[in-house]
Amino acid sequence: MRRINIAIDGFSSCGKSTLAKQLAHHLGYTYIDSGAMYRAVALYVLENGLVSEGKLRKEELLRALDGIQIGFKHDDASQRSETWLNGRNVESKIRGMEVSRHVTLVSPVPEVRAKLVALQKAMGREGGVVMDGRDIGTVVFPDAEVKLYMTARPEVRAQRRYLELVGKGVEVDYASVLENITRRDDDDLKREADPLLKAADAFEIDNSDLTASEQFELALGQVLKTVGEQAEA
Ligand code: C5P
Repeated sequence: MRRINIAIDGFSSCGKSTLAKQLAHHLGYTYIDSGAMYRAVALYVLENGLVSEGKLRKEELLRALDGIQIGFKHDDASQRSETWLNGRNVESKIRGMEVSRHVTLVSPVPEVRAKLVALQKAMGREGGVVMDGRDIGTVVFPDAEVKLYMTARPEVRAQRRYLELVGKGVEVDYASVLENITRRDDDDLKREADPLLKAADAFEIDNSDLTASEQFELALGQVLKTVGEQAEA
């Protein structure tokens, strides 16, 4: 069966990565978390003093950009793909609230997007990729055979994210998680470069009242329908 690309876009913390991992596992595809790449750039600017008084020192970031190496490596212990920044495993660092609070300083920068989008396009060249993010169906893989656009009520998303962070041992309160999610939604929707946008040909899933397995069945149905239609054509 021909290996297609699957693009999953949507708001922060609406279960995109859970669904993307389930689909990738089921189909034997590679899962790529494009948000992790923007988070790695945010970590870089935080660690290198490129944020002062809450503002990005953009010119300095642009000068450093060529030297920022981001990639993924499979980790045998955790059995998952982990994010690397300049030769260092940063998987757990990029998940904390500090990076979440600063990531929308770097994600609107067109040069950052150009660099990461080029890497993401290259990762999907052979097909067989499930990638989640904000602009995957619109910019990274505009020709993806399957595009899913996910939404859920903000309170539902904040509760899930809060429990996930607490489960990982991160000290956080529900109100600041909700505040971060709604602010990032707003930033991601309103930015000029590649904003969060539902592709015209995307299938929308509101998972506020769906279980993970109901959502998976719905998404897999879309994939099988597309693959079946292609096989018949
Ligand atoms: O997916 P995640 O919530 O980890 O993404 C973190 C941030 O990275 C988003 O809030 C958004 O600003 C940015 N992002 C993006 N384009 C993508 C993926 C993520 O701008 N394709």
